[in-house]
Amino acid sequence: MLDVKVNLYNTLGKRVEEFKPNEEGKVGMYTCGPTVYHFAHIGNLRTYIMEDVLEKTLRFIGYDVKRVMNITDVGHLSSDGDTGEDKMLAGAKREHKSVMDIAKFYTDAFKTDALKLNIRWPDVVDPATNCIDEFIEMIEVLLDKGYAYVAGENVYFDTSKLKDYYCLSAQNEDELVIGARDDVDEDTNKRNKADFVLWFTKSKFENQELKWESPWGLGYPGWHIECSCISKKHLGEYLDIHCGGVDNIFPHHTNEIAQSESYFGHKWCNYWFHVNHLNTSSGKMAKSAGGFLTVSSLEEKDYDPMVYRLFCLQSHYRKPLEFSYDALDNVAAAYDKLIARIKRLEVSDEIKNELLSVSGKTSDVTDGRVPMSEAGKAPDCVDQKIYLDYEKRFAEALAGDINTSSAITVLYDVLKADADDATKAALILRFDEVLSLDLKRAFVSSDEQSDAGDAVDSELAAYVEGKIAERAAAKKNKDFATADAIRDELAGKGIVIKDTREGTTWEKA
Ligand code: AMP
Ligand code: ZN
Repeated sequence: MLDVKVNLYNTLGKRVEEFKPNEEGKVGMYTCGPTVYHFAHIGNLRTYIMEDVLEKTLRFIGYDVKRVMNITDVGHLSSDGDTGEDKMLAGAKREHKSVMDIAKFYTDAFKTDALKLNIRWPDVVDPATNCIDEFIEMIEVLLDKGYAYVAGENVYFDTSKLKDYYCLSAQNEDELVIGARDDVDEDTNKRNKADFVLWFTKSKFENQELKWESPWGLGYPGWHIECSCISKKHLGEYLDIHCGGVDNIFPHHTNEIAQSESYFGHKWCNYWFHVNHLNTSSGKMAKSAGGFLTVSSLEEKDYDPMVYRLFCLQSHYRKPLEFSYDALDNVAAAYDKLIARIKRLEVSDEIKNELLSVSGKTSDVTDGRVPMSEAGKAPDCVDQKIYLDYEKRFAEALAGDINTSSAITVLYDVLKADADDATKAALILRFDEVLSLDLKRAFVSSDEQSDAGDAVDSELAAYVEGKIAERAAAKKNKDFATADAIRDELAGKGIVIKDTREGTTWEKA
């Protein structure tokens, strides 16, 4: 463990505070996951990139982190304040698919985008529809303790029972009328304006596709309960860090605190980490606004996802960030220059291989979970003093409220430092365990890169051939629905198949 104090801005105390986990050396971290009714846009992904840096900073210093994320596949209405359309249902209608198909497709798409941006897939990822029993249990306890009530056959949380409901958001009841809530059609079942739904049975969604039996009738959970429950399920009753975008502060995180602390009867989460928005010249990038940018739209314009990651790292997570292609072009040039500078380091193949294996870069990588090097332990082939000095400087930059641009400055300092090239290379690989900008590409020859590409291609070919064989078997059995479903599944992955006299052929679209 490095001797570095971590200071984080805590939305709860509204100031930068020293981070102290509940259990020494261990961190429980919860992240609000995506609502999977559409692709994640690059604004959502800014939040996930910066949370990834926070997680990796803690790991870099030597903490043992367990990170949990939910997938919102039920219950999130178009207004965060329980009114409007169900987002998942709207997505299913738009694409003439079932809600579960939509959820699966966009969860997979989210994971693909996250991995392209070198975001480590959290240790636990749990969809809301997988946790219905836990939601019901928590709601029952809240009713028993008098924090919830049934009205109009829905279950509501009674915010008037809390002394400090607005502890996170510095809102007040009066502001609610005109402020954060964009809806006007008030729910007359609510005893107080800020009350929110824990379980819906009678709502305006007669046609809600997913419903479960509950003590209050056939229905489905509200949005906020899922994060309280999924966090409790995997991280227990004391949480170290909870993160999300700033739009989650109210009402979502405010309501999570209300539910969890009423349920547990004590303080629940100590640190709240919120990432500010990515904006365009016309305002916040939003899924509901349409016309948003995705990782694929950047790739179509030939931007490497690493360039977008660097774009995010260059500014502080608490400041709004304005997206423009001009800004991205500047970052792309800086990224190319950086790789070229690293390439000029003179490091023998033997040392390169040693460093790549020490930093875990060549070992099995699944779900972006690249193993971290041990903190405070320099590889044998480098100058120990210089390595440990810069490792600490880099950690300290990040530990100052995740100051990514200062951390990048330390990287450039290393390149300029009076040190041998092997030590510089080792430090760059070590820093990249947090920055995750794929800087190792500077050390891998283009032959090796194309070998890796070939391996991916042959894996893809084996997968497609397998699917084509399955489809042929289905057709033989006159099961045309399955055959069509397989063709659509491949099309969804960008593979076009053609039936010819010689058999079925395929190509990438
Ligand atoms: P959603 O899928 O809409 O539930 O949002 C996923 C995450 O992205 C949440 O943590 C949001 O707070 C965050 N988010 C939404 N819009 C933006 C934006 N324009 N910039 C940064 N983060 C955002
Ligand atoms: Zn959440």
